[in-house]
Amino acid sequence: MKKIFLAITGLALWTVPAVAAIKVMTTTTDLKYLVERVGGDKVSVESISSGDQDLHFVEPKPSMVVKLRRADMLVRIGLDQDMWADSLVAAARNGKIVYGAPGYVDTSVGIKVLQVPTKKVDASMGDIHIFGNPHYWLDPDNSATMAGTIKNGLCRLDPSNAGFYAANLEKYRAELALKVKEWKEKMASVKGMKIVTYHNSWLYFAQAFGLEIVENVEPKPGIPPSPGHINSVIKTIKEKGAKYIIAETYYPLKGPRMIAEKTGAGLLTVPSSIGGLPEVKTYFEVFDCLVGKLSQ
Ligand SMILES: [Zn+2]
Repeated sequence: MKKIFLAITGLALWTVPAVAAIKVMTTTTDLKYLVERVGGDKVSVESISSGDQDLHFVEPKPSMVVKLRRADMLVRIGLDQDMWADSLVAAARNGKIVYGAPGYVDTSVGIKVLQVPTKKVDASMGDIHIFGNPHYWLDPDNSATMAGTIKNGLCRLDPSNAGFYAANLEKYRAELALKVKEWKEKMASVKGMKIVTYHNSWLYFAQAFGLEIVENVEPKPGIPPSPGHINSVIKTIKEKGAKYIIAETYYPLKGPRMIAEKTGAGLLTVPSSIGGLPEVKTYFEVFDCLVGKLSQ
């Protein structure tokens, strides 16, 4: 009996400790979701921004630097969407997550970026979107590519689990394809509908679901509207018959409300990321919410 006991305790001592999860920091909540889908229990993930923030302008905080210092991987939207992450990464001095390191993942790689400037960028074009329109995650099909890029990153850091990541990716893509089919069926009834958007962030979404954006409330990306521009938006809505004004939850609504009152267009405040509204907890729910509001 004593011998057996010793054998069991001996075995317990030799049990291999659980492999520490790969520590991943993402710049956005949607990226966090995608990393969790592909990485499963092999990753622990945290997003630097919350989904109710303007992702162009996230204020760097010392606590973010501390977390980036301990990270094995950084996953970002890229282009100029999360340029604020550059100063954080520089301050963190963590060679694992700098540009070109195995733990550096930019999900814009492989995405067909829209509105890439064809001439020299200057201040007249606004302060942001200098590498093209960075809101590509709002075409749900693009998330299949993004998740693939994330899978490649995880495989670089942890090749022994490559099969696990590949299987999770395929599962995600299959689930996504079903959801996209469902959303497109719902949106078929409003195909060709004209809309106005506060910021130029819905281009990919509009392209994916056959909507036409006739004007933005911001005259240029990142530039708040002047009274003159608001009047011109009102004129355009009346001329073209736009049905809705779409604004992310974090934009000031005084201008859009006035436009809605003067034109009769509906004002929809919507999330553009997980956490944009408290009830939107997954990437799929971002589209469930948008599609639900628009296809009513
Ligand atoms: Zn933007």
